[in-house]
Amino acid sequence: MADVFLKRITYDELLREPKIIADCLEVSKVTKNLKDKVALKIHFGEKGNTSYINPNFLFPIVNFLKKNNLKPFLFETNTLYRGSRTNAIDHINLAFGHGFGKLNIPIIIGDGISGNDSFQVVINKKHFKTCYIAEALKDIDSMLVLSHFTGHMLTGFGAAIKNLGMGCASRKGKLAQHCDVSPRIDEKKCKGCFICIKICPAQAIEKRADKSFIINEKCIGCAQCISMCPQGAIDIVWSYEYNIISERIAEYAFAATKDRNCAYINFCIFMTKECDCMNKEKKPYIKDLGILFSLDPVSIDKASIDLIIALEANDPIKEAHPQIDYLCQLNYAQAIGLGTQDYNLIEI
Ligand code: SF4
Ligand code: SF4
Repeated sequence: MADVFLKRITYDELLREPKIIADCLEVSKVTKNLKDKVALKIHFGEKGNTSYINPNFLFPIVNFLKKNNLKPFLFETNTLYRGSRTNAIDHINLAFGHGFGKLNIPIIIGDGISGNDSFQVVINKKHFKTCYIAEALKDIDSMLVLSHFTGHMLTGFGAAIKNLGMGCASRKGKLAQHCDVSPRIDEKKCKGCFICIKICPAQAIEKRADKSFIINEKCIGCAQCISMCPQGAIDIVWSYEYNIISERIAEYAFAATKDRNCAYINFCIFMTKECDCMNKEKKPYIKDLGILFSLDPVSIDKASIDLIIALEANDPIKEAHPQIDYLCQLNYAQAIGLGTQDYNLIEI
């Protein structure tokens, strides 16, 4: 059984007094195992999104870690799809635009300029024997995972497990979680520049007349071509097998935490129906609950869900995404040893 600490607070209250987070860290002691360089796993929010974790909430966390002689830095990975976070330059510019620069700590996009830098973690699970994790984590053994609890169109909800699994994977790892098949070239959009042929490491793209074509049998799913095509002609074939995606995310979360000391904070405030990858301003769909702290990613996500259901007196996660068995993510995460759903709730 793992301890989960809860501070009930609204978004506005926290904005007025963010220092409360440092008090919670002091009481919960969740950062006690973190050493030296600490990756603060964060989501900077897509361009146009306004519900991502407010950088003002991070000041007390950064100061608390520095006071304890730790070296925090902001850590994130590039997205699989094209947007404002597809490469590290655009991504860091966006992070500055969203106010994260004022924290005055390094921002590291862990899978490199184009999302292709990864290292392999062997896990030998049902879906993956080997996972592809952002290269920068290779030399980092401490991570504080800061997750905004939101709804999600593929997994029902997204919080600590999703932030770990999808959020720490390189582009190749993200593609592997999302689908079994190669990307696809849209013939109408392809202008025949053949950049994709030059960059493909597997010689899996060939010329057919004046267009490019992906040979599925040769493709190794590295996903490099997706971000390199200047026309945006190469698309992901998204999978909608919800339970399988949730299980794959849990396996990647297992890989991201393997041989690493991690602590977790879930921000269950300003919770929107979809995740912070949405490029539009969204309104919350659940009342503000507060902030949770734990050393266990499964416990903190389970406690967040239980407390939200109790607060709303119904299940808003199921109501928003009725087609998804969202508990599958937690059940599978527990089954593979990522953590436990049994928790001891301590209100602070
Ligand atoms: S990079 Fe894009 S536009 Fe150029 S050949 Fe490949 S698919 Fe076509
Ligand atoms: S995903 Fe990688 S291997 Fe497959 S076609 Fe694109 S660049 Fe080539």
